[in-house]
Amino acid sequence: IVRMERVNKHFGSLHVLKEIDLTVTPGEVVVIIGASGSGKSTLIRCINGLEEFQGGQIEVDGNELLPNGKSGRALQRIRTEVGMVFQQFNLFPHLSVLDNVILAPMKVRGWSRADALETAERLLARVGISDQARKYPSQLSGGQQQRVALARALAMEPRLMLFDEPTSALDPEMIGEVLDAMRELAREGMTMIIVTHEMGFAREVADRVIYIHKGEIAEQAPPEQIFDQPTDERTRSFLARVL
Ligand code: ATP
Ligand code: MG
Repeated sequence: IVRMERVNKHFGSLHVLKEIDLTVTPGEVVVIIGASGSGKSTLIRCINGLEEFQGGQIEVDGNELLPNGKSGRALQRIRTEVGMVFQQFNLFPHLSVLDNVILAPMKVRGWSRADALETAERLLARVGISDQARKYPSQLSGGQQQRVALARALAMEPRLMLFDEPTSALDPEMIGEVLDAMRELAREGMTMIIVTHEMGFAREVADRVIYIHKGEIAEQAPPEQIFDQPTDERTRSFLARVL
């Protein structure tokens, strides 16, 4: 569902992504790990066109993104089909939980309010926050807000979900509830690309773990292999620092 070939990305003179080749198949859960500044966020932001890149190709569900912002209509299709959850929840503060979730399906997908509400209520139940539907984001805990953000992304019926450190801004006691919701989603077969520092979670849900070092994919392997027997010296020293 995702194919990146020789993708390069520069911020001015800084070469942030170097010849990235990455293929993700439907239903796969890929976790990206790496040090701060290694390019993890930039990599996943390229996949839904939030960042331009300067060389290579990215194809997402049959839509092709081109370098230097020349993607045209593919960009819109990709943004409709790819859901994203960020470290900061990015909910609309002036809208209730329910209105946050129904907005895009109504505006972008053209659903009726009744259909959007039905889906929203089902999704809010699924992430365990039905009782918060009429509240505003500021009235919720961080963990609850992040689960609203997840429900909002799922309301668009995405073919692929991207997560950029979805639990990094949460108090420790709230991390579990968000990871549980993600675990459930993985079990249901959603294709997911997840940037996280939660190594236990990565080991448990990932089909494949990618270690990115200074903008390069240094190593990728199933979790047991990368955590227990990393072959690349850079992966080893990174894991020694974080595990
Ligand atoms: P973290 O774990 O801290 O989130 P990361 O792996 O997600 O780090 P990126 O945010 O992808 O790292 O950043 C990669 C590099 O690109 C860093 O050196 C960063 O300073 C630089 N960078 C990111 N965004 C921009 C920008 N908009 N303009 C210039 N440089 C940027
Ligand atoms: Mg980041």
